[in-house]
Amino acid sequence: MATTKLHLKPWDGIVVALLLLAAAVFFALWQKDGASLGTPPAVEIYVDGQLMRTVPIPSHKEEVRIETAYGVNLLHIGPEGVAMAEADCASRDCVHTAPLTRADGAIACLPHRLLVRLSGNLSTKDAPEEVDVVAG
Ligand SMILES: [Zn+2]
Repeated sequence: MATTKLHLKPWDGIVVALLLLAAAVFFALWQKDGASLGTPPAVEIYVDGQLMRTVPIPSHKEEVRIETAYGVNLLHIGPEGVAMAEADCASRDCVHTAPLTRADGAIACLPHRLLVRLSGNLSTKDAPEEVDVVAG
């Protein structure tokens, strides 16, 4: 028997999985339409599965404080990515999540029912999508 201090019921896991799945499908569809429009990406902050806030990517790094009934999270948002800088959740898994640069990723803070996503890919220097095939 694995004992854990996280009091997540199995049902919570299912709800979170469904939310993530729904978000993934939504963004897959959205990207098809949005990519060609050149819409600048924005950070989308979901709480309890509801879009709470949309923050455009600033040209310089900014802090965004998210305060909900569940707790406080501090995001760092900038052209180089989106990272969870601070959080008062117990696990702090979100703080240790790699910074977001692409629309297919997400930072989740399960204790705070928080999901952070990008509406599009950031144009980072080391973006691997334009790799040309080297013909030998
Ligand atoms: Zn967290």
